[in-house]
Amino acid sequence: MTAYDPDNIFVKIIKGEIPCHKVYEDDTTLAFMDIMPQSRGHTLVIPKTGSRNLLDAQPEVLADLIGKTQKVAAAVMRATGADGFRIMQFNEAQAGQTVFHLHFHIVPMYEGIPLRPHTGETADHEALGALAEKIRSAF
Ligand code: 5GP
Repeated sequence: MTAYDPDNIFVKIIKGEIPCHKVYEDDTTLAFMDIMPQSRGHTLVIPKTGSRNLLDAQPEVLADLIGKTQKVAAAVMRATGADGFRIMQFNEAQAGQTVFHLHFHIVPMYEGIPLRPHTGETADHEALGALAEKIRSAF
């Protein structure tokens, strides 16, 4: 497996060098709106510790991350009123991974509304910001 690149875009987001619409942050974890959402409320949950994907992550990091993902998903569901959600996590380019810093996708599902393509259109920033605020207030 290719080595982890500590200059990847999610590290720049963690450091605040690139802006994001944040929904949750603590010592170990950051959650923010996906900029190319597959559905309304598509959120990413990432550890602050670097790993390329599931295989090189420390088990303690994974354990913490899934617990935080549960917490964020509950807020996303309350804020969006979605009918369900998917947790997605891709490993390597052949599987669809495009950013090589471990992350879980929380993708809300709505009855009768198909998902948009993975890494499709960039969403309207104001709409993402408003949704992030709604999710933040749903914890
Ligand atoms: P992957 O394809 O690696 O599983 O997921 C990476 C996700 O990050 C994609 O869904 C993509 O839309 C999202 N993404 C890529 N660049 C940025 C960015 O600069 N900001 C945010 N918020 N999301 C990004």
